[in-house]
Amino acid sequence: MATNIGDLPNALTHKDQLDKQLAGKKPALFLDYDGTLTPIVDRPEDAIISESMREAVKALADRCSVCVVSGRDRPVVQQLMGVDSLIVAGSHGFDIWSPDGGTLQREMGAEFADVLEETKARLHAVMDPIEGALVEPKKASVAAHYRLVADAERSKVKDVVDAILADHPDRLKVTPGKMVFEIQPKIEWDKGKAVLYLLEALGLDTPDIMPMYMGDDHTDEHAFEALHGRGIGIFVGRADDPEVGKRTTYAHYILDSMAEVEQFLHSLAT
Ligand SMILES: [Mg+2]
Repeated sequence: MATNIGDLPNALTHKDQLDKQLAGKKPALFLDYDGTLTPIVDRPEDAIISESMREAVKALADRCSVCVVSGRDRPVVQQLMGVDSLIVAGSHGFDIWSPDGGTLQREMGAEFADVLEETKARLHAVMDPIEGALVEPKKASVAAHYRLVADAERSKVKDVVDAILADHPDRLKVTPGKMVFEIQPKIEWDKGKAVLYLLEALGLDTPDIMPMYMGDDHTDEHAFEALHGRGIGIFVGRADDPEVGKRTTYAHYILDSMAEVEQFLHSLAT
């Protein structure tokens, strides 16, 4: 059952309860990157992980399976993380690298390349003249960032995104994020399906493994829901944020800051 984010127990203060769920099982951790391991920043290229967070992830990755799941391209995440013992799933799980198995790529469907090219060109045409607007082409999607765009101009970004979608209702979909529209091929895929796929592809779909997922955004809800009843979901964010507190979630716990995430990772590693 979905819960109000404002009612979630804190994973650190309720660590005893969480340890009971973990008893006799090995955790397999799935971590979102932006907003979970790094603060949300104005420009995506500035989302640098802190040295202490990197150490916390590394310490845990030496002890159990840790997989970073991101919408970013996989090599970008690998470079940002800089931890060799880590499993990295880029492009929302379409492109995986593991220390044991190397790369594993799901067929993306080259038939979407042309429509993504067109999307990129149309976004550039409208957004390049808007101060602060940023078009980020990715391997399997195009992101339209408007965090730095003046309020009065933001509707222009939304309008072009809507127009592109209206022209390709069967081929494209949009996932809204934090001040970003991500335009993706319309394939049945989300972070929930990605996590279930990763569990199987990585050989972690066994009764002795407790999958855990940590994320901060709307797209992470799919993963919380997919793991509900078989794993542990941890929402990262502030319940007292008015935009967040009234939302419902399938996560079981909350951590409200990067510092708490770091502390929690350390507590799992010991
Ligand atoms: Mg995130």
